[in-house]
Formats: sequence, C-alpha cells, structure tokens
Amino acid sequence: MARGNCRFREYGNSKKIIAPKFVLRRFAHGVHPLGVPLTSVFRKVSPTQHETSRSIPVGGRNTDWDDLNLGTSYTASKLRFSLNTIPAINNEYLIDFLVGLLNIPSPTGYTDKAIAYVEAALAVFPVLEISRTKKGGLVATWKGQSATSPRGLTAHADTLGAMVKEIKGSGRLKLTKLGGFSWNTVEGEGCTVFASHGEPVRGSILIDAASVHVHGKDVGETKRDDDHIEVRLDARTTSQEETQELGIEVGDFVAFDPRVEITNGFVRSRHLDDKAGIACLMAAIRALHEADLRPAQDTTFHFSNYEEVGHGAASGLPENLSELLAVDMAAVGKGQTSDEFNVTLCVKDSGGPYHHGLNQRLRKLAREHAIPFKVDIYPYYGSDGEAYWRAGGDVAVALIGPGVDASHSYERTHTDALAATTKWVLAYLLAG
Ligand SMILES: [Zn+2]
Repeated sequence: MARGNCRFREYGNSKKIIAPKFVLRRFAHGVHPLGVPLTSVFRKVSPTQHETSRSIPVGGRNTDWDDLNLGTSYTASKLRFSLNTIPAINNEYLIDFLVGLLNIPSPTGYTDKAIAYVEAALAVFPVLEISRTKKGGLVATWKGQSATSPRGLTAHADTLGAMVKEIKGSGRLKLTKLGGFSWNTVEGEGCTVFASHGEPVRGSILIDAASVHVHGKDVGETKRDDDHIEVRLDARTTSQEETQELGIEVGDFVAFDPRVEITNGFVRSRHLDDKAGIACLMAAIRALHEADLRPAQDTTFHFSNYEEVGHGAASGLPENLSELLAVDMAAVGKGQTSDEFNVTLCVKDSGGPYHHGLNQRLRKLAREHAIPFKVDIYPYYGSDGEAYWRAGGDVAVALIGPGVDASHSYERTHTDALAATTKWVLAYLLAG
C-alpha cells in the first residue's frame, strides 16, 4: 500500500486532486496504489512532475467527490476508502437513450428494431464484444480484470402488446394479448398494427360499445375482455375484405402507444418495464467506459426479447456464469416498500426467493456506496432471472430495479430511481 498525502483544491467550478510524486510514479509503473477508481484520476498525469493535478467536475454529477473535504490532506489508504466510489453517471444520456427506446414499438415477438437500437448504442464501446442470439436477443461481453467468477446482467427489450386474433365482419380487429395485463389498462390508447403486407396502420383500442350516446350504461358495464375489446383502424374499412386489403392478417403485431412524458424528474410512459432497466445498464456501461474502468469479472450483458411471456433469458448466457443479476422494474403499490425514487432488491416473487448470498452482497454494496434502496417482495411477478433458473442455469440470481408505479398499465418512475439503479449496477460491476 502506497502512503502519501493527496489534497483537493477548488478552482472556479472544478476541484483538483493533488498527489505527491511517488504515488504518480507508482501508477506509471502499472501499480494502482490507491485502488481502482483512482486510476482514471491519475491516468494522464506525468510521472515526472513533483506535484500535479487533474480537474474533476464539481456538482451534482458525482456527489461522492463532494463528500471529501477541500483542502484536507488524505493518506493514501484513507483516500482509497473515500474514493472507492462509483464513476459519474450521465443522466442526460440515460434519459435520451430511454426516450428513444420507449418510442420504438417492441411487443414480445416483434423486437428487432428495439434490439437494433440497443445494439447500435453498444457498438460505440469498442471494449464490448456484441452478438445476436438466434432467438433475436442481444449479448455484449466485457472482459473483466478477472475471470474467476463470470457475471451476467439481464434486462428485457420486449414489452406488453397484442396480436390480431381475428378480422371482424365490421372490419375491426379482435386481439389476443402478449404478456400479462388487463384490457382496461390500454382502453382508449392509440396503437399501431404492423400489417404483414404494406404500411403500418394506426388505430385505437376501444370496447365494442364505446359511445355513451348509443350504448348508455352498457359502456360502464361491458366486460373488458377479448370478446369486447377491439381495434378501430384509422382507415376506411367496414368489412373484413377491406381490412385485408390494407395488408392486415391474423397474427399481425399490435403495439400500444407509449405516450412518453417527462416532468419534474418523473418519467411517465408505457413499457418502462423493462426499457428503464436497459437504460440503466447502458448508463452504467457508459460511465465505466468513460472512467477508463472495466468490470471486476468477465461480464455478459444480456438483452432479452421474450421476458413478458416467461422465457426471455432462458438461453443466450454463457455456460460458465457464476451469477446473474436481473435488472427489472420494482412493483410499487399498496403494501409494497418500493417507490419511484429508489431502487429495490426483490428478495422473493412468484418464483420464490432469490439467492440470499448474492442479495446480502448487494445490500452491503448499497450501504457502502450510500445507494438509496428498498427490499421488497412482489406478489405477482416473474423475472428473467427465474427463467434462467428454470432453464437449468446453475448460478446465483438476484433481482434489482427502479420502482415503477402502475406497472403493466400507464407506468411512471423518477430519475432518482434510475440513477440509484445505475449506481447499484456500477457498484456490482466494480466489486471484486
Ligand atoms: Zn419486466
């Protein structure tokens, strides 16, 4: 362990870290005297200087730096403790990426464009080895500092949606659901029908007795089920034949409009489950890459495309995996500890308890890094972590994710929950 004093000084809107020569020289010889996170701080410092510095930003982007007192001397060991922190997260990137992904329709089974969007975003990082699974998912591997305990992280790009079950005599469409939700949660929503032949057709999800002026109290009393929910197409059709002429067939995919809106840090949209999880993984990858760091272990990022129907991550992960961290939304509501401002560790859901040992390690990491987290149990929930377990994956599995209100309905979360989730992912990636 190197010993020496490092100081912080403030210059305008930046802080500078000042370290004595031998610390810098040691690093120049490939030793990391002050722990992994400091490598990026000292990376560009000349080893010949007696005292030197590198500016680091001050402000909300990395509060860990701000916890250190300016002008105070720190010994190397103390500094390692203090700076064993998480690299800055680019919240703007996280939100931009998320909004872009939310606006790409990706009902389960029709995810190619969303997967391509994620793939293009990953391609910016040359350290990643990217490949598609035959099932249509995406895998990115990052060589870690060690290969003794390879890790996987998974999040899913597919969302709830529907398929055309039948073209009615009226020209309207009867649907079948993709994923678990209630029809009333999409009633009145705009939608796109991806016609097998020809252009996508816009429309709305309505009950078959929608007008109160025609159907009176039946509007309220109609059961919202497969027989009464239909798509009214924004096209001139009043017959099965006319609808078929639009290129629409049984089996065509139907996507519900996400209606993305961001206000006061709240992100309101359909399908935050689990596009928010993907955005957190992307923000973590970017933060690590920009800080010139890499994961402690060989790491596989797995972006699945069949989660909502229960088998997303059943395949596509490497055989030598030791652990799998599923990153998926936390269920917020009555009786739940989860909320829209925190990340949640789910210790049990419909598939039973997750891996206690991994959960305990994650809790410890969260406490060490002051990550705001909750621990919760989801009564009606399954994850890709369990899908992997059920497929025979012999690994420790845990599940974390941002709190999402009104899940599988018109969902909402907050940037605080997204930042907390990203931070926890980073802490996990960096933990030896
Ligand atoms: Zn999900």
